[in-house]
Amino acid sequence: FYRPTDKQAILQGRHDHFGGNLSLTYDDPVMLVRGWKHHLFDEWGRPYLDAYNNVPHVGHAHPRIQVVAADQLKRMNSNTRYLHPAQTAFADKILSKLPDYFEVCFFVNSGTEANELALRLARAHTGAKGIVTPDHGYHGNTNAAVAISAYKFNKPGGIGQADWVELVEVADDYRGSFKRDDPDRAQKFADLVDPAIAVLQDNGQGLAGFIAETFPSVGGQIIPPKGYLPAVYDKIRAAGGVCIADEVQTGLGRLGDHYFGFEHQGALPDIVVMGKPIGNGHPLGVLVTTKAIADSFNNGIEFFSTFGGSTLSCRIGKEVLDIVDDEGLQDNARVMGGQLMDGLRQIEADFTCVGDVRGMGLFLGVELINPDGSEGTEICSYVKNRMRDHRILIGSEGPKDNILKIRPPLTIEAEDVDMILWTLREVLSEVGGFAPAPTCDHDHHHAGCGCC
Ligand code: PMP
Repeated sequence: FYRPTDKQAILQGRHDHFGGNLSLTYDDPVMLVRGWKHHLFDEWGRPYLDAYNNVPHVGHAHPRIQVVAADQLKRMNSNTRYLHPAQTAFADKILSKLPDYFEVCFFVNSGTEANELALRLARAHTGAKGIVTPDHGYHGNTNAAVAISAYKFNKPGGIGQADWVELVEVADDYRGSFKRDDPDRAQKFADLVDPAIAVLQDNGQGLAGFIAETFPSVGGQIIPPKGYLPAVYDKIRAAGGVCIADEVQTGLGRLGDHYFGFEHQGALPDIVVMGKPIGNGHPLGVLVTTKAIADSFNNGIEFFSTFGGSTLSCRIGKEVLDIVDDEGLQDNARVMGGQLMDGLRQIEADFTCVGDVRGMGLFLGVELINPDGSEGTEICSYVKNRMRDHRILIGSEGPKDNILKIRPPLTIEAEDVDMILWTLREVLSEVGGFAPAPTCDHDHHHAGCGCC
């Protein structure tokens, strides 16, 4: 056995026995052996603030999750071919959070599997194959999920774009084609879907549907302009397609004001995909859809997942959703997210290398830029690693990896928010060549803006 303090030996073991494309975060990787709420502890017992991981949604090592998991493992753990009240109780709880027209739940083991299943459902319902999806998206690691994830297939060494996939520009109104000063930007971004649908109709693939992370995360923590998704969904439905909302990163109260991201947009999807946080670390994915779509999929072939919807998974999933309610975590996300955003806006005003701050609740992004307004990839890497030196874990995202990603467990408290803001200010002060921003009458700094 490796001793947990033997970091070098563990690094070597990974190097020897794991694939080289299994990445480690930070120049100086962290070893984590314990967790509690939004705190993590390394091999020496040193604390880290977890301001990055959305999987421990209700906090690391939550005692209620420990209790239900241990209790169910003592009793038995089996699959959906047998009756158990935990399965219907979990479905009832999820459906209570969604509009009434959602009636059917499928349980799987990951976000990837839920998206794979979403493709199957959309295809069964429409008889078509083609998918429209925003650029830079991520939906999972299997063949079809990679094929709809431009973030993967478009990388050097990627599989390239399939003939049944059409990309549209991500609705990024900071860096994209239509900016925040354009009141019609939501509609203009949505209109980009028309030619994409036409290509699929012309090349014989037809339109099965549209899939998007409701707020694109790997694309750079983007909040699409309000009205974007409803406009897209109208076009997709008019062309006979199914609208799939990937809520793996945005769902379950993280956004504070909304339980799901599509609510912010005023959009009504046909399929909602959930993952990561819904098991709080236990592998679990959920797909929810309408009776009509589920009926189209019920075409004589059994759907079965050995572990999807296991008794254990259902008990854990329901407990996670109950804890969000019982501990007021959605509200905490709203309040703490608001404090973080206020502080980040002050930081944006004080540092020219901060081009934009955006987000909602505890789904936040800080876009770092070079003096010429271009993407500050190196600055971002520096800041992320220096935050880690101060034992605050945050991530980075975006096509050029220049957006700091702050996405803590929903348990985070006011003192932690202060610590993130204070430390970020310290670290940004170390970034050379950036004088405090001159004042100008813009609300925020624009990339390439002459006066700020
Ligand atoms: N969709 C989104 C938006 C995701 O962020 C992820 C994971 N990062 C997935 C799907 C895939 O989930 P999993 O890794 O659980 O298969």
